[in-house]
Amino acid sequence: MTEPARMVRMLEPAEYRDQAETSLTAPGDASMVVRVRPRSIIMACPDGCGETLVINLDSRADKAWRFDMRGEGLTLFPSVWREGGCESHFIVWRGHILWCDRFERGNREPTYNPAIEDAVLGAMDEVELRSAVELADAIDELVWDVNRVAGRLVGRGLARSQKINGGWMFVRAM
Ligand SMILES: [Zn+2]
Repeated sequence: MTEPARMVRMLEPAEYRDQAETSLTAPGDASMVVRVRPRSIIMACPDGCGETLVINLDSRADKAWRFDMRGEGLTLFPSVWREGGCESHFIVWRGHILWCDRFERGNREPTYNPAIEDAVLGAMDEVELRSAVELADAIDELVWDVNRVAGRLVGRGLARSQKINGGWMFVRAM
C-alpha cells in the first residue's frame, strides 16, 4: 500500500453530504457539512482505501465527535476508528493525522506548547482524579494538548496518573 495521508486538507464546507463527497480528491481530504450548524465531517479515508468516512458532529443525532478548528487545522475527539472494512484508526489533532496501530512510524505530532502547562496543573485537584477531557473543559484547551501536557507533568513528578476504564486520570502531586 502507498503512504497514508499525514495531514487533513479541509475543503470548502458543503450543505449536503453528496456535495461534500464529490469535492474530495485525495486521501485525507475533508469537508464539513453545515446546515445551520455543523452536522458532520465527510473525509476521504486517509489510508487511501477509497472509502468515504462520515464523522458525526451533531450531538442531537447519535454518537458525536467534538471538533475544533483552532490552531493549524481540524481537531477531532475522540479518535476515529472504522470498525469495518479497512479498520483505519487515527487521531486528528490540529490538522495532523496520527495513526494508531498501523503506519505509526511516520506519525508527527503538532508542536508542543509549554504555555498551557501552568493552566493544566492549576486545573488538577490534589485529591480527586480528573480526566484530560475534564481538564480541557475547565481551561478551554484541546483534549489532545492537555493529555500530552499532563503526561509530561507526570514525567516531571508534578502530577500523578492512574488508568481507569482504559483512560488516564490525573491529580496534582502534593
Ligand atoms: Zn480506509
